[in-house]
Amino acid sequence: MRRIAVAVVLLLGACRPPPAEDAPASEDAFERAAAEMKKELGEDFIVQRTGVFVLAGNLSTRNLSRFKTETVEACARALWNDFFASKPEYPIRIYLFRDRASYRKWVKKLAGFEPHSPYGFYLPDSKSLMMNIATGGGTLVHEMTHALTAPDFADCPTWLFEGLGCLFEQCRVTPSGHIKGMVNWRLPVLRRGGFVPLEELVKMSDVEFRGENEPLNYANARYLCFYMQERGLLRKFYKTFRKAHNAGEDQTGWASFNKVIAAASVTPAEFEKNWHAWVKTLKWPIR
Ligand SMILES: [Zn+2]
Repeated sequence: MRRIAVAVVLLLGACRPPPAEDAPASEDAFERAAAEMKKELGEDFIVQRTGVFVLAGNLSTRNLSRFKTETVEACARALWNDFFASKPEYPIRIYLFRDRASYRKWVKKLAGFEPHSPYGFYLPDSKSLMMNIATGGGTLVHEMTHALTAPDFADCPTWLFEGLGCLFEQCRVTPSGHIKGMVNWRLPVLRRGGFVPLEELVKMSDVEFRGENEPLNYANARYLCFYMQERGLLRKFYKTFRKAHNAGEDQTGWASFNKVIAAASVTPAEFEKNWHAWVKTLKWPIR
């Protein structure tokens, strides 16, 4: 099994669901994106296209190829296989900066601000991911998950948008091409801060989610998605909810959640109790 290199990441407020409407792009748009990236970055960077992604990095060819194959291509394929039916019809630009200094320098130059995260972020308007890749691939997968959720589930509620992003920041891709989240550093955040009541979490607005308990809300959303994954319910929930949301029948996910767990013969109270008990069995760090 292939493990994705992961760093300790902190993405508080780093990423928000992007606007829903995106016009389809022609093949020219991908070539144009690659040409623009070559021009803006200069000769120290390698620029490569793979599918909907245009990658640029001031890394060795070997390292860039490793992130391209083992992280970007493997995770995107698995995410489409497991969750997303609609693919982006526009280029997603991925900038992999080799260290902190070049990350800070280039973010300022390209995006016009000092990076608020030391690890990386996604800019929905320009469909760009900018990474300090020296910190590992965890943030890259988190932000890629956002970039691929956006065209598939417009207006995805924040708890699920971030729950999925956080879940896959520590993941593996199985030989049969499925993506599986694993335990990570957000476990002690959850243990220290405690559980948010299930119904409250699933009905949380963006403003509430990103309020003063944001780190704890991230951790709760992650470990709720993780538990659904372990119960074999996450993919079913995502697809059920996306359909209900598109039909205007479920804004938060709570109705779809109830429907999916009822089919598994579990009540919300039982599910919540079992979720808490399961989290207590997890271990971090893994020795
Ligand atoms: Zn995020």
